[in-house]
Amino acid sequence: MEAILKSSFGFSAFRPYQKEVIQDILQGKDCLVVMATGSGKSLCYQVPPLVVGKTGIVVSPLISLMQDQVMALKQRGIMSEYLGSTQTDSTVQAKAENGQYNILFMTPEKACSVPISFWSKLQKAGICLFAVDEAHCISEWGHDFRVEYKRLDKLRDVLPGLPFVALTATATAKVRSDIISSLKMKDPQVTIGSFDRTNLFYGVKSFNRGPLFLNELVLDISKYLASGGSTIIYCTTIKDVEQIFKALEEAGICAGIYHGQMDKKARAESHRLYHYFEALMEILSFMSCCGLLCMCFSAFMEMCPKSLESYYQESGRCGRDGMASVCWLYYTRSDFSKADFYCGESQTENQRRAIMESLMAAQQYCSLATCRRSFLLNYFGEKYQFDKCGNCDNCIVSKKERDMSKEAFLLLATIQSCRGKWGLNMPVDILRGSRAKKILDAQFDKLPLHGLGREYSSNWWKALASQLISQGYLTENIRDVYRTISISAKGEKFLNAARDDCQLPLVLPVTSEM
Ligand code: ADP
Ligand code: ZN
Repeated sequence: MEAILKSSFGFSAFRPYQKEVIQDILQGKDCLVVMATGSGKSLCYQVPPLVVGKTGIVVSPLISLMQDQVMALKQRGIMSEYLGSTQTDSTVQAKAENGQYNILFMTPEKACSVPISFWSKLQKAGICLFAVDEAHCISEWGHDFRVEYKRLDKLRDVLPGLPFVALTATATAKVRSDIISSLKMKDPQVTIGSFDRTNLFYGVKSFNRGPLFLNELVLDISKYLASGGSTIIYCTTIKDVEQIFKALEEAGICAGIYHGQMDKKARAESHRLYHYFEALMEILSFMSCCGLLCMCFSAFMEMCPKSLESYYQESGRCGRDGMASVCWLYYTRSDFSKADFYCGESQTENQRRAIMESLMAAQQYCSLATCRRSFLLNYFGEKYQFDKCGNCDNCIVSKKERDMSKEAFLLLATIQSCRGKWGLNMPVDILRGSRAKKILDAQFDKLPLHGLGREYSSNWWKALASQLISQGYLTENIRDVYRTISISAKGEKFLNAARDDCQLPLVLPVTSEM
């Protein structure tokens, strides 16, 4: 194993857990590997085929991911190809049947549709593992459910005795057990690595849409590029991708563009450019004026709302070399109401709930006033042992704080008047004195609180609500496809104490949205 690590990959030592997983696979065990993006999961299925001289099969959801891997493997002299493109499939298939590949990638559709005879020929030629990459796609509870992934269990009977290896960076317990049962894994060896990527800095900036934002973004990007790094920008909509791309081009920044609605040729070109620049970057890395920029529309499945899982995966793509890297998330509150809307469409009940829950967590992450890393790691089920990581925006800038008892009282009391039937917009509109139809219909304009919060903007009140949620005064609930808000026992206690005039000051952080 060590010899192959050195000769084929040029690495001097295994990273945590790699060796253990490889040994498990070599012993023929089913494995579930949960490790952060960038931690080196791929090596776990890349080494065994070279050790035993048989083919490893790897199912992967995206052609672009497979192309990347195949290219990188070929450069290392490892025989590799992928199935899933109609032009080359028949040649690749024939070569695979002759055992000519160390590693053969395929889409889940392909894996489910190749004839049984293909598998029996492969088995005769020798295969040593069946890996399912991005295995969270199997689970409805995952953030990226794919129906085809669910059908992979059929192959269990076709390939008896072969170790199945599921790999993912999504760690929730529900997703984990779903993967194990869907793939009918037998007594699997479960390996869960740390999700802490210590070399990544996490930060969040809130913004309002418009030309000002584009200017600010372009400035930020120029700064990052000037420091010698390359930048990837993920956007939630294609429109955003195109707008930002245009702004960067106008500013003379060399950028490429990549998204799901580009035609095949343009996509391939963009992908090729990305690698070209990447190679160039290596050569020119000593020159601080050069940078690579590539944009992705992450959801290749149109308009999928964002989640913390996908954010962690996307941000995890930077700093894979272990060098210090920064991950900034730019967000605007209206993004979330849009996402709520999309999640109401064409999903099963479970999926909808899962999406709503992770959306709520994502919003909480955005409004967080405490350490972002510890929030992320706790979200992924990892006990983070520090309060402060020293490498996120909230840890390095000391936040302003002030007594917000009065404002908190207004907001909590208004939410109480709404009796848990509404989302956050209603109480905020009441406080702002709106006379919209929904307010008049419910006679909320008659509440004594109506209009008492005019001095602050809607976004200000919503930012306060986020703080009160994270401090446990408010609870968000999911009802059907809507989010509702209500006060918690703690919030009720606060209100009672305030009404009795014995509430202590409530000191809250003043976030960038306030
Ligand atoms: P993941 O699939 O978990 O997101 P990758 O398998 O793509 O991560 O690995 C991330 C990077 O780390 C790759 O560039 C890979 O070459 C590198 N890498 C993996 N294992 C090692 C190792 N043992 N030593 C040095 N670099 C490694
Ligand atoms: Zn921190």
